[in-house]
Amino acid sequence: MNEDQRDQVLYAQFGTSSPSWRLSANNNTLELSPVTGYVPANGAIALDPRQAAQVRCLAGVTSRVVVDVRLCGEPLRLHLVGKKLNSDTWAGTASAYDDTESVARDLVLSLSFAERVVSEVNSMVVIIDRHGRIQRFNRLAEELIGVNEEDIIGHEVWALLMCSEDGAAASQDIAGLFSRGVSYEVERRIRTVHGERLFLFRNKFIQSGSGVEEQFLICSGTDITELRLAQERLTELANTDSLTGFANRDAIQHKIRKAIDEAAAGEAVGVLFLDLDNFKKVNDHYGHVFGDHLICDVSAAISTCLNEGDAAARLGGDEFIVLAAKGTAHQLEATAQRILERMRAPFAVGLVEVYTGCSIGIARYPEHGDTVESLIRSADTAMYVAKDEGKRTHRVFSPDMNRRVAEYMWLDTNLRRGLEEGQFTLHYQPKLSLATGVVQGAEALVRWNSPERGQIMPVEFIRYAEESGLIGVLGRWVMETAATQAARWKAAGYNLRIAINVSARQLADTAVVRHFAEALQHANLDPCLIDLELTESCLIEDEAAAIDLIKQFRRLGAQVHLDDFGTGYSSLSQLGRIPLDVIKLDRSFVRSINADIKAQALVRSMVAVAQELDFQVVAEGIETESEEAFMKGLGVDYVQGFLYGQAMPAPEFERWLQVRRKLRLIA
Ligand code: C2E
Ligand code: CA
Ligand code: CA
Repeated sequence: MNEDQRDQVLYAQFGTSSPSWRLSANNNTLELSPVTGYVPANGAIALDPRQAAQVRCLAGVTSRVVVDVRLCGEPLRLHLVGKKLNSDTWAGTASAYDDTESVARDLVLSLSFAERVVSEVNSMVVIIDRHGRIQRFNRLAEELIGVNEEDIIGHEVWALLMCSEDGAAASQDIAGLFSRGVSYEVERRIRTVHGERLFLFRNKFIQSGSGVEEQFLICSGTDITELRLAQERLTELANTDSLTGFANRDAIQHKIRKAIDEAAAGEAVGVLFLDLDNFKKVNDHYGHVFGDHLICDVSAAISTCLNEGDAAARLGGDEFIVLAAKGTAHQLEATAQRILERMRAPFAVGLVEVYTGCSIGIARYPEHGDTVESLIRSADTAMYVAKDEGKRTHRVFSPDMNRRVAEYMWLDTNLRRGLEEGQFTLHYQPKLSLATGVVQGAEALVRWNSPERGQIMPVEFIRYAEESGLIGVLGRWVMETAATQAARWKAAGYNLRIAINVSARQLADTAVVRHFAEALQHANLDPCLIDLELTESCLIEDEAAAIDLIKQFRRLGAQVHLDDFGTGYSSLSQLGRIPLDVIKLDRSFVRSINADIKAQALVRSMVAVAQELDFQVVAEGIETESEEAFMKGLGVDYVQGFLYGQAMPAPEFERWLQVRRKLRLIA
């Protein structure tokens, strides 16, 4: 057969030069069918497995494939245009490969649908050749770029669409991309009529369907400008503390992890853990809105103290973290010092000025922790210790700090439980008139009988009780117990006053006066036989409030004693303004008189001042006859100390009293 005859083969067999074809998934027979009504002589063509596989490569989008087959014993090159119809059927139209007219018609008819899709699809579609020249430009592309397809076919794509750097890079890549022929995705900034926009392009290489195989690149792009703006905002929100704009916990952990990963051998990563010293008090006193303002101002202040490259974060509440760009011990401490220095100045929120110092813990990777978690934990621990050692200071982590923090944890659990389960008792230490030797009363000193550790002295837990706020509960229990004891002693015929210790933290709760009155009432103790020992720290923070409270206590019949006099910061002029009854000279001064003349002179003048202000004076911690003699010489009114008796449980105190009375009777 010659070529013309071969073209005719299909027509002869099927009554059309473009019969339909069909192939199923499980059978390699290509079925050709004629136009309706024409009975085929032989509509089945056997494909070899490779050819069948080739046909089955046709996907959902109309495409083409060429197979060499035999029809009626004659070789025939078939041009199949078609696609996958469903999961197990492929179909389309066939024509003889050499029958250019039929092939073209098939392609036009079948592809016109695909063409329309390309045109109308809601992505920008640009088809370019291997030189980057535009071959197709769909409708959305026309709208976005503001040009008509016919005007730009054959123009280079870069100059038209892309901003200059993107364009330059893309034009250099094009040859390599075509030779590799692998699909890829790329983000490109495109100059549109709405300004520059970000597009995500999914780029695919295809072979042309016509005789000479040519490769084209189909670029289909979607505008992701908004999506990316939204994504970035979301990521930003997820990583930011909304109050301060600092990084949040997650973000700083991520940054620290990254810093650890990137730290070269021998290079340190430094972390500062900051906690405000009296934020809770400020928040309780002025309210949350004020507290939030303060946190914002503090964060701004912290920012001014950082080195370039440092990152600050707020963990929540009043806790902050700084990740230092340079982790040398010297630089970390210098940063901590700058922050502490800045925090010494007051913060003005509206008309109110507040002082809010902070405590800072420092830890370094890898010495103090080799993971993000352990590094932060170590810095946190060091911060605790800084707080414990007086606040407004910084500490560098050391392993023994873990023990101290463990002790804190133990106290936190067990102090609460101890209070609930009544593990506390009061011991009473006698207080005597120095001139007459008569027992005037007792100081109530608390003891904790821990089932786990036995008797625990107040130095070991009072400070923690103050910090945790548990002192409120403990102090109320002390008032009630002391009042009950005083009432009992009164009923038994003893003439004794009991002094209780009240810490500054207890006075912060103004309900303290009511609690005191209730304790007296409950014990039926009228007149009041309970006195209060306050330390100078009670007077410092808010003198007016302290004076007000003192007046209320005195109105209820209590005497107010200034405890540990000389160890605090109250000035002599301040002392004159406070309505006190008694000044208690601290034990440390009594001890010092044994040392030298100067110390004696100091104690002498302190007593003189107290007397000048009309306060009575108690000297505590008298252990020797010579100390007693010295105090007698100064005209001190009352004494307390091991020379007379230690703090004892109430029954023992009573026995001590009886023995003392007998001795005095004998003497
Ligand atoms: P403080 O108020 O200065 O109490 C005097 C402390 O000195 C008591 O220690 C007492 O036992 C001790 N002491 C008395 N005479 C002598 C002496 O001659 N030599 C020596 N070496 N020590 C003497 P304690 O009972 O361990 O109490 C320690 C501190 O705990 C008290 O110091 C007080 O500040 C605090 N505290 C005790 N009970 C309470 C309480 O119920 N509430 C509050 N807020 N604090 C309390
Ligand atoms: Ca005391
Ligand atoms: Ca004392």
